[in-house]
Amino acid sequence: MKLSTICVQEGWQPSNGEPRVLPIVQSTTFKYDNTEEMADLFDLKKSGYFYTRLQNPTCDAVARKIACLEGGIGAVLTSSGQAANFYAVFNICQAGDHIVAAAEIYGGTYNLFAVTLKKLGIDCTFVNQEATEEEIAKAFTQRTKLLFGESVSNPGCKVLDIEKFARIAHNHGVPLIVDNTFPTPINCRPFEWGADIVTHSTTKYMDGHATQVGGCVVDSGKFDWESQSEKYPGLCTPDESYHGLTYTKNFGKLAFITKLVAQLMRDLGSQSSPQNAFLLNLGLETLHLRMPRHCENAQKVAEFLQADKRVAWVNYSQLPENPQYELAQKYMPGGTCGVMAFGLKGDRQTAIKFMDSLKMIGIVTHVADARTCVLHPASHTHRQLSDEQLQQAGIAPDLIRLSVGIEDADDIIEDLKQALNNI
Ligand code: PLP
Repeated sequence: MKLSTICVQEGWQPSNGEPRVLPIVQSTTFKYDNTEEMADLFDLKKSGYFYTRLQNPTCDAVARKIACLEGGIGAVLTSSGQAANFYAVFNICQAGDHIVAAAEIYGGTYNLFAVTLKKLGIDCTFVNQEATEEEIAKAFTQRTKLLFGESVSNPGCKVLDIEKFARIAHNHGVPLIVDNTFPTPINCRPFEWGADIVTHSTTKYMDGHATQVGGCVVDSGKFDWESQSEKYPGLCTPDESYHGLTYTKNFGKLAFITKLVAQLMRDLGSQSSPQNAFLLNLGLETLHLRMPRHCENAQKVAEFLQADKRVAWVNYSQLPENPQYELAQKYMPGGTCGVMAFGLKGDRQTAIKFMDSLKMIGIVTHVADARTCVLHPASHTHRQLSDEQLQQAGIAPDLIRLSVGIEDADDIIEDLKQALNNI
């Protein structure tokens, strides 16, 4: 099926007489007639539902749709994008291990890697994603277990050279994890360029209406864990908490995603609620219609901002003079997303005056939904980062992040125009 059809049809396919729309299975638990059947489920000998922390039919249907959109073999919904990135990493890392990540990633993920993972004994080295392969390779050690980047970074809008990152990761015998939140699989499919695991904050475009916080981890099933078995004992040696079962032996290509559910979800419990999965599914049904409109509107807005004398700079990778343009054309020829960054001539106060003058466009801690919104990362999402860390993450103090929605482009531009007239 084509992506548009997958958005609408995949996941829930009712049989005769069943509800047409994905049902919300709002049940903590599932009933069985005998003890043995339930015991087999606990031992992973059979698949089936028994407790919603581990699996739920509504959540599974939506995860199947996302796996299919990404071209993966399995996916798991999580309670947030933060949980998705934490699980993707923690599923193959433990105390004493090391990871390498692009410095340009979202501030919340940067914090997770730099501070919280460190407390768990996992070190992270951040690299400039635009550095040469040789430079980036220097960050790897014997302890390195994965490489991580965002297909389009938040908020710097840098496009990841996925093939380059995949080559570096695979040369070091580790998987590449790509957070594909901003372009979504409608605009970019990282598995086709060599990524092994994809993560999402489904809170953003996938939902698209800002009705739920959620995340997703998708497995391509392509990484050969057994060939690096000494690096990944959690996957390749017996799990005592499952009577000595070995994930790679028992589940083959599904080893990574099965362990993530069976072990991390069981022990840490950041599952999506069925209600949130239902809302996410409604969003996904129109993702293929919304993404092109976001890109089309953003193109018009970027061109307008670029032509205005009061605007110092515009960073939108669909503008031909943008340094990211070629990479964007290669990986996302249909468009990147509706998010851009720009700065105004003047100081920090100018940015604040401009933002406070907007009428239709809202100041919200969010991006990537149907409504156009703005944010000043240095004073909002990234306020915990030092100036040095801000620079390293490619975020100028005057950077305004604009998330262009799916309203009429003329109305968005009109609001920007009147706010510019007010500074
Ligand atoms: N990854 C990216 C690229 C993001 O932009 C965000 C949030 O903005 C996250 C992950 C975290 O997602 P959530 O807010 O759903 O926890």
